[in-house]
Amino acid sequence: MSAIIDQVTRYPDVKIKKLSKRFLIMHKLSDKEIRENILEVSNLMYQKGMVNAYEGNVSYNDEGRIYITPSQVCKGYLKSEMIIVTDISGNILEAESGYAPSSELKMHLECYRLREETKAVVHSHSPYATAHALANKPISSKAYPEMIVIFNEIPLVKYGRPSTEEIYAGFADVINNDFDVFLIANHGIISMGDDLFDAFFKNEAAENTARILTITELIGGEKALSAKELEALHMMRKEHRKR
Ligand SMILES: [Zn+2]
Repeated sequence: MSAIIDQVTRYPDVKIKKLSKRFLIMHKLSDKEIRENILEVSNLMYQKGMVNAYEGNVSYNDEGRIYITPSQVCKGYLKSEMIIVTDISGNILEAESGYAPSSELKMHLECYRLREETKAVVHSHSPYATAHALANKPISSKAYPEMIVIFNEIPLVKYGRPSTEEIYAGFADVINNDFDVFLIANHGIISMGDDLFDAFFKNEAAENTARILTITELIGGEKALSAKELEALHMMRKEHRKR
C-alpha cells in the first residue's frame, strides 16, 4: 500500500464518511440531532472564516424534509429554533416567526434533486475558493497528489444571477459528471455529502487546497508530476471512489 493511499485513508473526510455510513445504517438522526449538527457545522464554518451573516448556508435532507439555515443570521450565533424546514419544492413547513430560509435554498434543492442520495449540502464563500470562482478558474493541479486523488478537480459552474433560477442552471453538468464539490462562477463553492460533516469537511478541504495552490503560484508555480504518475493517481482515485 503506497504512502498516498495511507494518507487518503487517514484523511478526516474519508474517515468521517466511513464512520457516518456505518452510523447511518444503525441510527436515523432525530430532529434535535439534525438541528444540533447544523449548528455545529455552521459554527465551525464561522470560526474558520468560511461564512458570515450574509453569505453561505447549510442544509440537510431528511427524506424530503429540508432543514436549512435562515437568511441574514450570522452562522456563529444560530440557535436551533431559527433553522427552517421546507419540503423538497421549497414550501415552508416549519419556521420561527421572523426567520426566512436562505435565498439560496433553490441551489440546495437542485443538488438534492440531481443526486437523490445526497443528505447534506454546504455552501460557503471561503476566501481562496471564492477567489478562484471570481477569477473563473477551476481548482486543479498536476502536482498535488492528494488534490488529484480526493477531488480530481473542482470544476467551475457558469455564473447565474443571485436569487434567480439562473444560479443553478449549470449544476447538472457537474453533478451528473460525478463531482460533489464545485465552484459557482463569480460566487462561491458548494459541497455535497453523505451527512453534514462529510459535506463540511469537503468544503474545508477544498478551501485548504485552493490556498495551497494560490501560494504555490506566488512562489513560482507548481512542478507537474509525470504523465505516468498522474495516470496512476487517477486510477487510485477511481478505487477510492468505489469505497
Ligand atoms: Zn452564496
